[in-house]
Amino acid sequence: MSNKGEKLYEGKAKVIYGTEDPGIVHAYFKDDATAFNALKKGTIAHKGTVNATVSTRLFRLLAAEGIRTHFIDQPAPNELRLERLEMIPLEVVVRNIAAGSLCKRYGIPAGQVLEEPLVEFFYKADDLQDPMLNDDHVTQVLKIVTRPELQQIKDLTLKINQALHVFFVRCNLRLVDFKLEYGWDANKALVLGDEISPDNCRLWDVTDNRVLDKDRFRMDMGDVESSYQEVMKRVLEA
Ligand code: UDP
Repeated sequence: MSNKGEKLYEGKAKVIYGTEDPGIVHAYFKDDATAFNALKKGTIAHKGTVNATVSTRLFRLLAAEGIRTHFIDQPAPNELRLERLEMIPLEVVVRNIAAGSLCKRYGIPAGQVLEEPLVEFFYKADDLQDPMLNDDHVTQVLKIVTRPELQQIKDLTLKINQALHVFFVRCNLRLVDFKLEYGWDANKALVLGDEISPDNCRLWDVTDNRVLDKDRFRMDMGDVESSYQEVMKRVLEA
C-alpha cells in the first residue's frame, strides 16, 4: 500500500488510512465478507480488487454526469485515494425491483418491478441493527440532516440511480437495488462516498436473472468469486 498513514477507521470491508494531506484518505478494500450484521463471515478471493475497480469505473461515470463523488484515483488494484468527508450516518437504499428486506417486510414477491424507484433510509448504527427511518425520524428525531438536505439526498440518489441503470443495461445487468452513503466536504457540499460494487448492489443477469452479487455469499449459492469477476469484466468492457 502506498503512503500508508494512521489508521482512521476499520469497517467490515474496508480500512481507511490518513495521509500527509488532511483532506485525503486511502481506502484499502478487504477480501473479507460479512452478512446479516456480521453474523455470517467469510472471504471472497479478490473481492477487494473487484470492488475498488468497479467503484472506480462507476465513480468516473458519475463524475462525467456532473455528480460529485469522493473518488480521486486508484493507486493499487484494491486501494482508492479519496477525499475525506464528514460522513452522514444514513444508508440510502434505492430499489428498482423488489428483493431482500423489502420482500420480507411487505410480503412482495422477489422480482416484482417497482413502478417508480423507491428510496429508503436506514440509520447506520450496528448496535441497533440499522433500523429503517422515515423522513421525520431523520430530520426531527435524530436530526441527522435538515428537510431540504434530505430532499437534496433523495434527488441526487434518483439521479445516480438513473445514470447507473443506463450503464448497467450496457453490461447486460439489471440494477435491482443498491445502497449509497453520503458525506459533507470541507465546504459543506453533499458528496457521494463509500463504494458502488457487487457488495452493495443487487445485479441480475438480464437474460436469465442469474444473481451476480453478494446474495450469492449471503445465501450460499456458490460461484461467489466467479460472479464478482463476471461483474468486473462486464463493467470494464461496457
Ligand atoms: N445493503 C448494503 N448494506 C447493508 C444493507 C443493505 O449494502 O447494510 C444493500 C444490499 O446489498 C442491497 C440493498 O442495499 O443491494 C438493499 O438491501 P436490503 O434492504 O434488501 O437488505 P438485505 O436483504 O441485504 O438484508
